[in-house]
Order: sequence, then structure tokens, then C-alpha cells
Amino acid sequence: MQPLTIASITAQPGEKKQQMLDVRGTALSMPVTLMCGAKEGKTVLISAGVHGAEYPGIQAAIELAQELDPKELCGNIVWIHPINTQGFKARVCSIVPEDGKNLNRVFPGDENGSTTERLAYMLCQEFYKKADFYLDLHSGDMHEELHPYVYFPGKAEESVTERSRAVAQLLDMDYMVRSGGVSEAYNGAAALGCPSLLIERGGRGLWSRDEVEAYKKDVRNVLRHLGVLPSAPEPVSRHPREIAKAYYLNAGEGGCWYPQVKAGEKIAKGQLLGTVKDYFGKEIDSFYAEADGVVLYLTVSLAIKDKGSLIAYGELD
Ligand SMILES: [Zn+2]
Repeated sequence: MQPLTIASITAQPGEKKQQMLDVRGTALSMPVTLMCGAKEGKTVLISAGVHGAEYPGIQAAIELAQELDPKELCGNIVWIHPINTQGFKARVCSIVPEDGKNLNRVFPGDENGSTTERLAYMLCQEFYKKADFYLDLHSGDMHEELHPYVYFPGKAEESVTERSRAVAQLLDMDYMVRSGGVSEAYNGAAALGCPSLLIERGGRGLWSRDEVEAYKKDVRNVLRHLGVLPSAPEPVSRHPREIAKAYYLNAGEGGCWYPQVKAGEKIAKGQLLGTVKDYFGKEIDSFYAEADGVVLYLTVSLAIKDKGSLIAYGELD
């Protein structure tokens, strides 16, 4: 069994190392836990807090990084909990405050770019290239409500997509979505040949014990499937159904937002999804479903930005 080295941190077989890791060329520093298993096996990367106000996954990662014992592992686990500590502390949605960029839109990053681009580059070089699988734990943001679901990469090599999809099917949630993106953190890993998932659970700037436990159960079951945790899988109540096509609705002009549906609600083609009005109550735009489907997430704040995200829904086969 070999020691595990990530950036400047090394853990010996059976050892756990926990420390802050500086991101080269930036003021950022992130909490990292390395677990080097006592026996050979896969290396799994698990991160949370790409978006600093998405709490259930962050707390699940913090707890599992404390609780799991590397002496019991066949393989390695690398945790980052959370990645975007600046956004987390400042309670800022979506972005890394230093340069105002969304880490989930800048992959593969740039060694000589802005803070967020340098962070993405470091994740690719130091983390993704050493991982056999990557789980990225998200939630709805501070202003978003969502129904739990999972994305798997759709633009990577087909074998990477298929290995990712196979693991997505193990999760205890209702829906899975094939991603058409390339610039997100998990898609950045998939582009380097590392199968990956982005899991969504919880939102609105809240976190509950139930959500954290559900997250921990899904993560442990993935680790068991990959052979890193030796115990038997915990039973699940369902398997995700694949969304045939996802729709992402954005406002034109912003203003006041009045949604007419909830996350997880089934919708019918032609149904009113919500209306944007001005400060005098005059309608700016109304939005209708283009297909039968289910609401994956929506903005629940009264305020909506110009071109801001309103609702995402998925068409079911
Ligand atoms: Zn997110």
C-alpha cells in the first residue's frame, strides 16, 4: 500500500491527515482531509461547498471526514469541506467573492487566471488526476428550493458517462439528469477521464439533520459500491428515474417573482409556472411549461435579477 499525496499533503497507509491547503497564487485556503486506506483500492474525491451557501452537503462532508476510519478503508478518500471557504464565511451565493466568479462555470481553469480560475486549475491538476471517482455535493442556493436529484456528465467519453450513470442509479432519490455542460467542477473531472456526479439536496440557506443523514447515506453507499468501504449497502427506498430533457427558464427583465409551483411538483404542458411583475404590480412576463414534467428547482426569493434563473424542470419519458 502506497502513501497518498495530494498537493503538499501526504498521508501514510491507515492514516488520516486534516489541514488547510493554500491555493497557489491566491488568498484562498481550503480544509482538506486525506484518508489513506490500510488496503489497496480506488481513490475517491468528495467535495462540498463549491457554492458556499449550500449547507447540507457541506455538513455531511464535515461529519464523514471526522467519522470514517482510514484503517477500515480499501483505497483512499480525499475530502474538501468546503472548497469555497470565502463564499461560505461571507454567506455569499454562487460565487467566490474575491473575483466574483462561479467556480462551477470556469473549468478547466487557468494557471495564470483570476482566483477562481486558478482554484479550478489546481483542482484539475492536484485532485482530479489522482481520483478514480468524484462526488460533488450541492444544494439549492440561498434563494432556491429544490427536489433532490443528481447530474451525471453527458459530454465526456461515453465510458466515463456510463460509469457515472451507473453510480447515480444507486442514490436514494427520484431523478437523475444527463448534463450537457462542460465548465462545471464535476464535468471538469469527467473531461479528464474521472467519472463524477453532482448531487443536489436541500436549499434555501437551511440544513436539517434529515438532509445531512440522507446525504451521508448516499455517500456511504457510493463508497461501498466502489469497494472503498467494506460494509454492506444500506437499503434505499427508490432509484432515480432519468429526466428525458431538462428546461432552464430565465427571466428577461428582473423584478418581483411570483412562482405558481413548488419543487418536486408534477406539471402539465401549458401550465402557468410563474409571473414576473414590476414594483407597481404590472406584469412583465409570464412563464408556461413547454412539456409535461416535474419541477427540479426554482427561485423562491421575491427578487429576481435581470436574466436571473427562475425554474428548472424536467420532462419525463
Ligand atoms: Zn451549487
